[in-house]
Amino acid sequence: MKRIHPLADLAPRDIVAKEISRQMLNSESKYVWLDATNVKDFEERFPTIFASCMKYGIDPRKDYIPVSPASHYASGGVRVDLNGHSTVKGLYVCGESACTGAHGANRLASNSLLEGLVFAARIAEDIANNLAEFSEPYESGEPTILLDPVIRNAIQQAMSRGAE
Ligand SMILES: Cc1cc2nc3c(=O)[nH]c(=O)nc-3n(C[C@H](O)[C@H](O)[C@H](O)COP(=O)(O)OP(=O)(O)OC[C@H]3O[C@@H](n4cnc5c(N)ncnc54)[C@H](O)[C@@H]3O)c2cc1C
Repeated sequence: MKRIHPLADLAPRDIVAKEISRQMLNSESKYVWLDATNVKDFEERFPTIFASCMKYGIDPRKDYIPVSPASHYASGGVRVDLNGHSTVKGLYVCGESACTGAHGANRLASNSLLEGLVFAARIAEDIANNLAEFSEPYESGEPTILLDPVIRNAIQQAMSRGAE
């Protein structure tokens, strides 16, 4: 990481994750090694990770830990305004399905739950204030399509390979 970013291992997580992916692709490996042997009091500071490593026969105090990036948030989604309205009348979206504009390409830690709370409350308020509009079911008249779930794996792999 020293060659990639002035903050080296402490670079923003998207930069670290992309570099790990690049290294894994170049070396055709399923993981890279994390050297945490210099971390003092690993077992007290990271008890859950320590327990999981030990369960798999890896002692982080002396062994390298095999790691690979994982997705824990999808940036993007259905574009909505600041009250959760999508472009389809009567369709509100919040949470990870929504693109509220509250995050950049690299969401800050713990902002997703806050976003869910704030936008859910705004949506509830908006619906309560506009109840009359929702008395009739909305029919768009557009045909709907559902994607076959078998393509999920292929899409995941393409998205990981193409992450830039
Ligand atoms: C490992 C991990 C760690 C995270 N850590 C943090 C953190 O520290 N702080 C933070 O802010 N965010 C964190 N996040 C992100 C955060 O958890 C999510 O962004 C947030 O939970 C999204 O909320 P949501 O309500 O949009 O979706 P979800 O919480 O995913 O809820 C969607 C719900 O819909 C249900 N569902 C799916 N399909 C159907 C269906 N067809 N019919 C009916 N129900 C269905 C699911 O079972 C689920 O209960 C983390 C995510 C992961 C994976």
